[in-house]
Amino acid sequence: MQTYGVNELRKMFLDFFESKDHLVLKSFPLIPQNDNSLLLINAGMAPLKPYFTGQEEPPRKRIATCQKCIRTGDIENVGKTSRHATFFEMLGNFSFGDYFKREAIAWSWEFLTQVIGLDKNRLYPSVYEKDDEAFEIWNKEIGIAKDRIYRMGKEDNFWEIGSGPCGPCSEIYYDRGEKYGCGKPDCEVGCECDRFIEVWNNVFTQFNGDGKGNYTELENKNIDTGMGLERLAVIVQDVGSIFDIDTFKAIRDKICDIAGVTYLSDPNKDISIRLISDHIRAVTFMASDGIIPSNEGRGYVFRRLLRRAARHGRLLGIKDKFLADLSITVVNEFKAGYPELDEKKDYIIKLLSIEEDKFNKTIDQGLSILQEMQNNLEKKNLKILPGEDVFKLYDTYGFPFDLTKEILEEKGYQVDEEGFKKSMEIQRETARSARTTTNYMGSEETVYQHLDHNLTSKFVGYDSLVHESKIIALTTETELASDLVAGQKGTIVVEETPFYAVSGGQIGDTGVIVTDSAEFAVEDTIKLPGDKIGHVGRVIKGIFKIDDRVSLKVDENLRAATAKNHSATHLLHKALRMVLGSHVEQAGSYVSNDRLRFDFTHFSAMTDDEITRVENIVNQQILMNLPVNTQLMNIDDAKKEGAMALFGEKYSDKVRVVSMGDFSKELCGGTHVANTGHITVFKIISETGIAAGVRRIEALTGNGVINHYKDLETKLYEAAKVAKTEPSSLIHRIESLLEEIKVLKSENEKLKSKLASNTLGDVMNEVQDVSGVKLLAVNVPELDMNGLRNLGDKLKDKLGEGVIILASSTAPDKVSLVAMVSQEAINRGAHAGNLIKELAVLVGGGGGGRPNMAQAGGKNAAGIADVIAKAKDVLSKQLK
Ligand SMILES: [Zn+2]
Ligand SMILES: [Zn+2]
Repeated sequence: MQTYGVNELRKMFLDFFESKDHLVLKSFPLIPQNDNSLLLINAGMAPLKPYFTGQEEPPRKRIATCQKCIRTGDIENVGKTSRHATFFEMLGNFSFGDYFKREAIAWSWEFLTQVIGLDKNRLYPSVYEKDDEAFEIWNKEIGIAKDRIYRMGKEDNFWEIGSGPCGPCSEIYYDRGEKYGCGKPDCEVGCECDRFIEVWNNVFTQFNGDGKGNYTELENKNIDTGMGLERLAVIVQDVGSIFDIDTFKAIRDKICDIAGVTYLSDPNKDISIRLISDHIRAVTFMASDGIIPSNEGRGYVFRRLLRRAARHGRLLGIKDKFLADLSITVVNEFKAGYPELDEKKDYIIKLLSIEEDKFNKTIDQGLSILQEMQNNLEKKNLKILPGEDVFKLYDTYGFPFDLTKEILEEKGYQVDEEGFKKSMEIQRETARSARTTTNYMGSEETVYQHLDHNLTSKFVGYDSLVHESKIIALTTETELASDLVAGQKGTIVVEETPFYAVSGGQIGDTGVIVTDSAEFAVEDTIKLPGDKIGHVGRVIKGIFKIDDRVSLKVDENLRAATAKNHSATHLLHKALRMVLGSHVEQAGSYVSNDRLRFDFTHFSAMTDDEITRVENIVNQQILMNLPVNTQLMNIDDAKKEGAMALFGEKYSDKVRVVSMGDFSKELCGGTHVANTGHITVFKIISETGIAAGVRRIEALTGNGVINHYKDLETKLYEAAKVAKTEPSSLIHRIESLLEEIKVLKSENEKLKSKLASNTLGDVMNEVQDVSGVKLLAVNVPELDMNGLRNLGDKLKDKLGEGVIILASSTAPDKVSLVAMVSQEAINRGAHAGNLIKELAVLVGGGGGGRPNMAQAGGKNAAGIADVIAKAKDVLSKQLK
């Protein structure tokens, strides 16, 4: 059998299905779009759900993809076995109401046996036990003997998730030969060992399930297939496991090279090598799709994978940072199938390098927290660290269970493994129940999902702001409608519209839709499922009906101001890359008529100098009156010409390229000025951090800048007025006011200390004698606990041996008490802690302390008089 590399196999699969009239789509980004049920894309069909439900019209009824996927359900086993991985590529061919079982089965057979050249005597199909149709096709049409076709139960060969589309499947197993087998006499398809492996899964989506075991036949039956590319490579390359296929091996070799170790020389090291080679692929791909490490959601998955990889690097004896370096190997191995890896390479390297640095610090932090926990055990004379503590270290500080165990065992302690597992299970349950509450689509129901999916609308508003068209759909806020009348809120959908729908960070247009007798105020324009544009607003007068001819007019001022801000973000993007470096990537943007916001990847705050340089570059390009041109291009040509593309964006083959002179070139669907000169002026208002590694700039253009300075001017005049001077002498005035405040402050300090010593003198008159022990109990005005203690120390010096009780309140509900007892008084039986305990009750508080010093807080200042009055009695009871 001829052997093929992973990159070749991927191409062979896609080419094969292209020859069968399939539209080959690029892998969708790992971040699911409009799907709350998933953190990360976990299967080839996941991003195609809207096509399966009929909510959106697929671009063709036959589609084929190679989809990047991440699953973390078995993360604990990655490395320990040679089967598990978090990142994988899934090949799939899909039919949306087009071909069905016959073609799907025949093509899978043709691809495996003729294109790849697998030996058909080693292939075994399986079908769902009740699916006679599939059985017949295998037997009669493909010619597989009956005893080689396995009928399996619902568990194995019926695909369904909750309610929604579902159906039986047919899998194809490959017999890898005895050398991979377990040797048991009953070793056959379905055995747990590595001999028979499932290579292809055809899902025949023919039912709609209600989630309770009731099925109705679907009108449009679909095909959804999945084949793990790595698994196919294992078979074709006839290697032991996924970690031995060509792409994995390149990464594995690089790790061994960095660590100076050899694969298969030490089982523990092998675990680390396999784990790192899997995790580095996952994090490299996540980074290229714009996912940023954090403590929740996708960001947490990223962080966890990266830290596990870093930790295992240390187990291999790697001293320095290595993950960024290793990601270059991933980029090189996979860029043929995923060009975005190469495009975002600088950024990926920087991000991984910074995150690995953070991990090094976390390790130190985790160690000191573990030390604290250990000290607590010692104090309580315990020998086992509770499971929740182990879990907390694991979950919050990324401290692996084994590490905690290892460290504690060295010191003669144990860990509660059962408790740890329990905590882990609780967290899993929580995550699971959170997931199962979403429907098949993983999105919320809206009225728009009921719109006829054959309807589409076209945007015609790049060059004109007025257009005539026909209404094709109407909705109220809750349901489809055939008309909308004055006073009603709702949405109008037309065939062609000049209104820009919110997207790419740019707000939707506003304006009016009119007929001779009716008027609709458009408050927002939005994209609806299935290539439709919705004009959201209310009917001002008259009535709108489906099929009405209407005239659509966009608010020109809003559009013009928005265009200035949008064009400025392109100049800003380029300027940031010039000043800060090529790791800067757009992470998000918001463009409206009155401001712009631009989020980008960068790992420290910008300096004032950097901000000024960026501002200057943008303003220079505005002054140069660069023409703004847009061009429809093939995506590959656009990228070749250096057009900047965004993270995780799903681009179609034809893209719109917006260029501003030779300065900036970006893929963008937004609306722009015709000439950079129209932006007039650009001003950055703020630069802040919004997440680890993501900065945000807020800025203004045109009239926004003028209004900004007008505001500042008004404030300046107001400030001058308040300071009783003119704006030109305001600074001088503030300086002299500050000087004056300084002089007054120091005078005030002098007066205060004079007052305090007077108070000291006065209170000494209130010393009482309690059976030969001196007691000073006084209410001091307006001191907090600190002040009270300081005063107490001074009084102690004056009083010599004896007992001091001080009370004070800074508010009616804020009382502080302090008690101080000298050694001699302690010998007589006085105890500051017990004194305070009894007295604090009188001010509605509690407290205690040592024999010589104690303090308490209270909530009732009215009780202070009682405290002073009772002090003598309480002390007297204590004395021997
Ligand atoms: Zn076996
Ligand atoms: Zn843009």
